[in-house]
Amino acid sequence: MAKVIIDRELCIGCGACWGTCPAVFEQNGEDGLSQIKAAWQCEEEVGVGCIGEDLDDCAREAADGCPVSAITLE
Ligand code: SF4
Repeated sequence: MAKVIIDRELCIGCGACWGTCPAVFEQNGEDGLSQIKAAWQCEEEVGVGCIGEDLDDCAREAADGCPVSAITLE
């Protein structure tokens, strides 16, 4: 289990994360920024997810590819 955090204040809505890892990330319909898919959201924040180990690699790849380093994994 890993925690994924999107800093939505940094996010520019470029789409790279949901392009790389659509199982975890998606575009928020209202502000166009990245959010965690509903199934994985935790801590009652759209930008915070609790994911299983099977999704670690794709989430990490998305974090590495974010141009503004808005995604962190704990
Ligand atoms: S890759 Fe980074 S900047 Fe682009 S949509 Fe995802 S979180 Fe936002």
